[in-house]
Amino acid sequence: KHVHWRYDPIVISSITGADFHLKNFENIASRLKGHVERCYFSYPYLYKKVKRNIDKFQKEKSITIYDPDNDFKLNLAQQLADIADCYGMSMNSCGNKDLVGGKIKQAHCVDGEIIGELFFNNDFKYVIKPSREGCGCAESTDIGAYDTCPNGCIYCYANVNKEKARQIFETHEAESAFLGHSKSDSDKWISEINARKSGLYYPKYYVLEDESLRDKPRVKEIIENCRGAQKLTKDEVVTKLSGLSAPKRYALGKQTLYIKEIKRSSVHFFSIPKGAIENPQLIINHGMICPHFCQYCYWQKDLYSSSMITVHANPKEDFVEDIKIASIIWRAFSPLISSDICKDKVSDSLFLRLDRKIRKKGISSDDKALKSVCLDFVKGLMEDWKIPKKEQKFILSRIKNPAYKPKVIFDSGENNDSVALEHITNIQNDILIPTILNMDNAYLILRTKSIYFGFLEKLNKHPKRDHIIISPSINPRYLIEKYEPGNHSLEDRLESLRAAAIMGFKVFLCFSPMIYERGSWRKLYAEFVKEVKRYLPPEKVHYYTVGSLRLSKQALRNIKNIHPGTPLDSPYFIPPGNTSGDKFRYSGDIRRTMYAFLIREMNKAGYDKVPRYLQTETIELWQSLMTDQYKDLNLDLDAYRSGRMELRALTEPSLPDKERREVDDNHRGLNQDVRLQKT
Ligand code: SF4
Ligand code: SF4
Repeated sequence: KHVHWRYDPIVISSITGADFHLKNFENIASRLKGHVERCYFSYPYLYKKVKRNIDKFQKEKSITIYDPDNDFKLNLAQQLADIADCYGMSMNSCGNKDLVGGKIKQAHCVDGEIIGELFFNNDFKYVIKPSREGCGCAESTDIGAYDTCPNGCIYCYANVNKEKARQIFETHEAESAFLGHSKSDSDKWISEINARKSGLYYPKYYVLEDESLRDKPRVKEIIENCRGAQKLTKDEVVTKLSGLSAPKRYALGKQTLYIKEIKRSSVHFFSIPKGAIENPQLIINHGMICPHFCQYCYWQKDLYSSSMITVHANPKEDFVEDIKIASIIWRAFSPLISSDICKDKVSDSLFLRLDRKIRKKGISSDDKALKSVCLDFVKGLMEDWKIPKKEQKFILSRIKNPAYKPKVIFDSGENNDSVALEHITNIQNDILIPTILNMDNAYLILRTKSIYFGFLEKLNKHPKRDHIIISPSINPRYLIEKYEPGNHSLEDRLESLRAAAIMGFKVFLCFSPMIYERGSWRKLYAEFVKEVKRYLPPEKVHYYTVGSLRLSKQALRNIKNIHPGTPLDSPYFIPPGNTSGDKFRYSGDIRRTMYAFLIREMNKAGYDKVPRYLQTETIELWQSLMTDQYKDLNLDLDAYRSGRMELRALTEPSLPDKERREVDDNHRGLNQDVRLQKT
């Protein structure tokens, strides 16, 4: 039963006619009697490449090979089937249904039923997947390879080039996993396969914004790390995208890595969305869009302009310089951000203007010269803004003070996922983390839905490892499965965070976007909090934010095209105008109810001492949750909008006495700074 006999292919020629086959077949069948139950047969299929070989053979050997008509084939096959029957064998037609009938059955060369009977106790699940018309085979993987067999049969369709097949056979490496390929190539592919199986993302295609990038070392490394991704030109992408439906277009974008160098500074000042309260911070822009599939992703707004995942492949020196300049600017802007009068005026365009001035002066200029550029710039700004002299004096005195070293927080995941492409870009491990840890008072936020924090392990004992803050965005399991199909599960994310927290890295949880699942959201979020606690007890959580779904009109329109019938487009998700801000979102009542519920569940679970903030919310909503009715939520709007939120949990070098006195004497907002610091 374990052996198939293939009388195959039956070549009809001037020396092997029907009589020859009847005699030959009987001879073999009689000798196999009792050892084999099934015989499979076919006639040669004369593919073009086979025909060429046959023509050559005919000329050389003066032998004619015929392609008989179906009646001839059927007649001969039936006679062979009678012979097979006499010797206790069934006759099975491979790849030609026209011959099936009477004693001839359709062949299943890869026979799921027999495999099940022989090896799986008749409990083998398989699907029929024909390899060509008339084929009845079960789905299988072909481990053979073209041009590798040296036998040289003229009817062979597996060898296009006999000479090549012979050469490959002769140089075959027994240790190589892939037939016809060297061991070194095979080993490389095996490691790629293993990497893909590990769940890491690898693009199918990559595109260079500019061909001249190809020879740059970091670009080369990124391409190498893409492990076999196919290179496309920009035109080829346009051709591939044209005519595709929105879901296919989106999927193709996610499979494609667009490699470019960013022209402006890779660091920018976070532009606070219109109508929203956010904590001021610096964004490191090392790419755009990520490989995850969140149905609610606001980057879908760009579907038709840039659906690809973009990587900024600038050399390390560019990023290091950008970060250094950004920290100088941050030091100059921090007193403005801490000032109630000035804080809302600081913007990315001012950041860029000062960035240009510093570059013009030269980043290698001495500290004094750079400080003077900053002082002049801030002074000019305050004059333009007509800031009261007393406030101006205080702000400038802080910048002049050599001991003034405000904390600078860099967020590396505002435009993408900080970690999801790390195995390809090495940006955190090689560039951002060493640069940030080398600075006095700098912190790095990794925003991610990834679970691969292995690159952090080598920092396990680093004295400043708490300067790395991991910020996962998580939701109840049901919502992850519903709106983030294919993303890492809640358990996997929590488990990897637990491991990172144990190593001493800070975790700040981002419960956003909360999704209003009518009827069940309370139950989902209550269970979710319990699950979070199982992995991350309160002492391991640095702080947390809660936020809700928020989408531009354009993003929502694209989401409806990409995910037809999406439940995100619910009657509760309402256009701007009925809500504050400029985005579609849930009504203020729904948001307030959801935030209060989640924070109270967190309090009940023991997170009552962990600072919490609202993410990208309106001033009205903040204020409504700071009334007596919601006192227990303990929200601190002031700390959040002035960027002092970290002070509760991170250790900040203390201010010298002189400056502390100055602060106490002069500034209400900064008094709070010191109070929080003492706490
Ligand atoms: S050359 Fe090799 S692969 Fe091709 S038909 Fe003959 S034995 Fe089969
Ligand atoms: S992780 Fe963020 S950027 Fe990536 S798909 Fe999800 S929402 Fe979009």
